[in-house]
Amino acid sequence: MTDIKNMTMDELKNYMKELGESPFRAKQIFEWIYRGAGQFEEMTNLSKALREKLAERAYISGAEIEQKWVSRDSTVKYLMRFADGELAECVVMFYSYGVSMCISTQVGCNMGCRFCASTQGGKVRDLTAAEMISQIMTAEKDIGQRISHIVLMGMGEPLDNYEEVIKFLRIVNHESGLHISYRHITLSTCGLVPKINALAEEGIPLTLSISLHAPNDEIRSKLMPVNRKYGVKEVIAASDRYFERTSRRVSFEYAMAAGINDSVACARELAALLAGKPVHVNLIPVNPIEQGEFQKSNGKTLEIFAEELKNREINVTIRKRTGGDIDASCGQLRKRRRETERAE
Ligand code: SAH
Repeated sequence: MTDIKNMTMDELKNYMKELGESPFRAKQIFEWIYRGAGQFEEMTNLSKALREKLAERAYISGAEIEQKWVSRDSTVKYLMRFADGELAECVVMFYSYGVSMCISTQVGCNMGCRFCASTQGGKVRDLTAAEMISQIMTAEKDIGQRISHIVLMGMGEPLDNYEEVIKFLRIVNHESGLHISYRHITLSTCGLVPKINALAEEGIPLTLSISLHAPNDEIRSKLMPVNRKYGVKEVIAASDRYFERTSRRVSFEYAMAAGINDSVACARELAALLAGKPVHVNLIPVNPIEQGEFQKSNGKTLEIFAEELKNREINVTIRKRTGGDIDASCGQLRKRRRETERAE
């Protein structure tokens, strides 16, 4: 059986041709799917024969809410369950400019960042484009509002699931899909350089966010094993290229861990690394995870670090944490749920 939700408009047109149908049907089916149809029977502008033909060989996948937490600041966290029982976390945040959603791209992760809960059990599997879209559609239905902004910053490394993520982006952007502008989408990566270069050529002008977390290879390799493959200089060169090709300003994430990467010397080294570049740095205190070895830097240290960057003309924001009271950074919710399941 084929998951018809996992097709771009072009793929759906080809599928219609294979079934001996007019490609025009693809548009109708696509529109039904993104209006929330779960069954072919609902697609009343298709002939009964076509609906039956589709039901015999295809289905429309979805995601169920397994658990939900609502924060005092209205942030909503979900643990969503897919057809095979695997779970992924996602978060909805309400802002003055719209409703932003952080989604997962993999169950687990292979990147091994030492401070991150999502990677502790390795990668279980990639999510399909349809499963990424279902996180959004299920949340929209639950909150009764449209999602206007997407961040690919949940569980998983999006560029380690490249083909499905690109497909997801094209479907989400399509006018008959969710019709969300690429400018409202942020993709966060630990720095898979060849994939950043490939993304720059896709004609998808999203905001690229790079998880840097250190100003040099010595510190970064200790925090992020991926740095031994693609070092700081290469990552920065890839971000320069991304800007050249897309004209989109790159963001750098920098999680501050006490005594690890939060010194004034680190701030100055970071400023030198990024000097003159049209970039933005987001500072965030590292969120300590269970069995983790890192403690968050205090507010004063963050301010001093930010000041050092500002004094050197680097754009910087100290990121406000939303949903603090329901926290458990991404990856921890699924892990806990799995542990309770094992205990039950
Ligand atoms: N794999 C992608 C996206 C998922 S992680 C990436 O690495 O960018 C989303 C962001 O959360 C990344 O910047 C990641 O480094 C950061 N992150 C992960 N665990 C964290 C923690 N415990 N505290 C603070 N930030 C964390």
